[in-house]
Amino acid sequence: MSGGTGTAPDVAAEAARRRTFAVISHPDAGKSTLTEALALHAAAIEQAGAVHGKSGRRGVRSDWMDMERARGISITSSVLRFEYGEVLLNLLDTPGHADFSEDTYRVLAAVDGAIMLLDSARGLEAQTLKLFDVCRHRGIPVITFVNKWDRPGREPLELLDEVEQRIGLRPAPLNWPVGVAGDFRGLIERDGGAFTRFRRTPGGATRAIAEHVPAEQAAEEEGEAWSTAVEELALLDEIGAALDPDAFAAGTATPVLFGAALPNFGVSALLDTVCRLAPAPSARVDDTGTERPVAAPFAGQVFKVQAGMDRAHRDRLAFVRVCSGRFERGMSLTHARTGRPLATKYAQTVFGRDRSTLDAAYPGDVIGLPNAAGLTVGDTLYVRTPVVFPPIPAFAPEHFMVARATDNSRAKQFRRGIDQLDGEGVVQVLRSDLRGDQAPVLAAVGPLQFDVVTARMAEEFGAPVELTRLDYSTARVTDKESAETLSGRRGVEVLTRSLDGALIAVFVDKWRLRALEREHPGITLTRMLAAG
Ligand code: GDP
Repeated sequence: MSGGTGTAPDVAAEAARRRTFAVISHPDAGKSTLTEALALHAAAIEQAGAVHGKSGRRGVRSDWMDMERARGISITSSVLRFEYGEVLLNLLDTPGHADFSEDTYRVLAAVDGAIMLLDSARGLEAQTLKLFDVCRHRGIPVITFVNKWDRPGREPLELLDEVEQRIGLRPAPLNWPVGVAGDFRGLIERDGGAFTRFRRTPGGATRAIAEHVPAEQAAEEEGEAWSTAVEELALLDEIGAALDPDAFAAGTATPVLFGAALPNFGVSALLDTVCRLAPAPSARVDDTGTERPVAAPFAGQVFKVQAGMDRAHRDRLAFVRVCSGRFERGMSLTHARTGRPLATKYAQTVFGRDRSTLDAAYPGDVIGLPNAAGLTVGDTLYVRTPVVFPPIPAFAPEHFMVARATDNSRAKQFRRGIDQLDGEGVVQVLRSDLRGDQAPVLAAVGPLQFDVVTARMAEEFGAPVELTRLDYSTARVTDKESAETLSGRRGVEVLTRSLDGALIAVFVDKWRLRALEREHPGITLTRMLAAG
């Protein structure tokens, strides 16, 4: 085993300057645009301070796009990493759009904070709500960014109200828009009252011009828009909408910022807020309830296993979030579940243009371990002092299919493929004696997960499958006694989840579920996370 322990103060200082976060939003709210704007902004700042600066902008953009291209299918998530002053930001990408699945949720197991991105015209939308549910469950502090203020949208007070009423988060605006959405004049900082004017660049280019304008001048030039904003600010002060840091840390309050990612307006304020308020990595609680401090020897948790990222190599990459200690490439880690050693000679970074080798990593960082056969989502890796982190919860599936090999002579490959996809968390695999081993039920949060199964079973495992839809739409965790009560009832079936042996009851619809709950008040039916 190589040493690589680092001294404790070093590790603590490195952890303290990291911010590991994700953006949660509904498709089209502007996540990609904002991600790029944040990275560009940070890069531009870095460039300004660098002696041999060439255009940092192109660099970040092309990295991001190459990465997308290299990945081929957009079911992956990677890490965008950038330095901003003293702070090192790890922005974990969550797959968006129709690929929405458990993958997105799992990324949230690896972050310390999140930006909740809202479209100013749409407010809270379905996927934002589901993702927020995960944040709440994991106690992840959330910073809210109301985007697209350059376009017609809703009233700011109405949006704040929606956040408070629908998800119970107490909003604390850090800045306030002057001019209604669509006739956006600029932003007033609540603390200190500085005004930054928003001006489109002449000729309709996308970047806005931001200029600082003294309040008196702004009052004169912006007229009614200004006085309305000032009145609203007074109202906010009256109702005490100030940020309570403890409530933010506890996930019951959210700082709110307004802006527009596309013209890059209000993005620097957001970046500053992430650096200032988002939590740094801190001690992680293990499965006995004991905290493992960031300065303890290395420990990390697998939050994602990705196959086929590099098609030429057919590899399988385990993404590990560093929870404590200094990681050095070449270290021999212990795989907590099996007790076996794991070599890390080929550890990689999972960001940037290429997957380059990685030499050291600290709490909050993400490392990629290629060809890590046997690693599954939730597994703990450590050096020296043993630790097991609690499993990453499985999420409530809403789509169910029976899988069968189309060619019976491929039964072995079928079994191996299904087990592998189960371990990666592509789908949850549910079995029962009644259905038998050759016809497992696959459960998914998003239907696109099944397309991945079909493609990979055929191409990667040489066992083409036929999937048949089951009429279930909702699932609950149950116990043995309740399973007996449910057995033989119409519209419900109890299956065993392969990965952890949990008993899962699946129901045709919520009515059936509620009717059974009413009929048998003592029955155990536990909601899974983000249940639909
Ligand atoms: P994602 O699906 O959340 O990643 O959203 P995208 O970043 O792809 O943005 C969706 C659409 O909204 C694109 O056409 C963007 O150009 C546009 N968009 C994003 N941010 C803004 C903004 O601040 N203002 C305006 N007007 N359009 C925006």
